[in-house]
Amino acid sequence: MSLQEKLEALKHETLAKIEAATDLVALNQIRVETLGKKGPITEVLRGMKDLSAEERPKVGSFANEIRDALAESLEARKEVLEINAMNEALAKERIDVTLSGKQMPIGTRHVLTQIIEEMEDIFVGMGYQVVEGYEVERDHYNFQRMNLPKDHPARDMQDTFYITDEILLRTHTSPVQARTMEKHDFSKGPLRMVSPGKVFRRDTDDATHSHQFHQIEGLVIDEKVTMGDLKGTLEVLMQQMFGADREIRLRPSYFPFTEPSVEVDVSCFKCGGQGCNVCKQTGWIEILGAGMVHPNVLEMSGIDATKYSGFAFGLGPDRIAMLRYGVNDIRDFYHNDIRFIHQFKGE
Ligand SMILES: [Zn+2]
Repeated sequence: MSLQEKLEALKHETLAKIEAATDLVALNQIRVETLGKKGPITEVLRGMKDLSAEERPKVGSFANEIRDALAESLEARKEVLEINAMNEALAKERIDVTLSGKQMPIGTRHVLTQIIEEMEDIFVGMGYQVVEGYEVERDHYNFQRMNLPKDHPARDMQDTFYITDEILLRTHTSPVQARTMEKHDFSKGPLRMVSPGKVFRRDTDDATHSHQFHQIEGLVIDEKVTMGDLKGTLEVLMQQMFGADREIRLRPSYFPFTEPSVEVDVSCFKCGGQGCNVCKQTGWIEILGAGMVHPNVLEMSGIDATKYSGFAFGLGPDRIAMLRYGVNDIRDFYHNDIRFIHQFKGE
């Protein structure tokens, strides 16, 4: 076999190997074996010294041609294998963004928080400020400044938890009113405020009583404030909370800090006044207490009761939530049962 024939055979054999190589390691092995210093082509070129002077350049150029062809073929195959390897890696490591992820549980504001915020929004819309205060309060602010001196019999209606003889858990949010009144500068305008928050009574817990519940109390003090203002304000509140058709009625009542005092009923939002289980067949639902601020309360806060008058009211977000959602047991609000809480997802 001549050198040319050897080289030709080597070329075909190597090209077949290159074509069959399935990965870059194998391909590199072929390159080293064929074109390397100990490879067959180098060997052929080494044997050229035995050729005649006229054959030598022919064989030399033929060997170079074959070497170049093989190098080119190796390079082309390398590119193909590299692309294949990359595609394979991409396919293997692909992240399918269309797969649904792990669902994170999304919480919701507590139904009482929702009710309180809803009412706050209504009052802020009428120009009220929202003021929060201490849950642990002095007897002075909780009782005395609300016209309930020590040994006043009406204190029995609001028995509470005492820290000391003078410090207690507030029984209503009224002390926030007392603290705000004494600071208010009437030269800058009337006082219009609501105070939401937790309050405490030493009640026996049952379906409608809890030792801890919520209040929103409102207070407006200005010159010439009348009961008409009180009624109009509460009407707006009830219509926004229970529907535009709601009416309210006032019944005489007694609170130490207001005079006159009233109980306020709202026409039943469920039956519209026909009588049903929500309104106990009366057509009316007892919803809150209110009245004109007692002159003693004004004077104790340093406000001239001959010049200023005001109205105050207090209502329970717990009761409103019970009515609106048909909750029968107030304690459900405080048991933190997720199944219960999740029913009130809000917006
Ligand atoms: Zn009814």
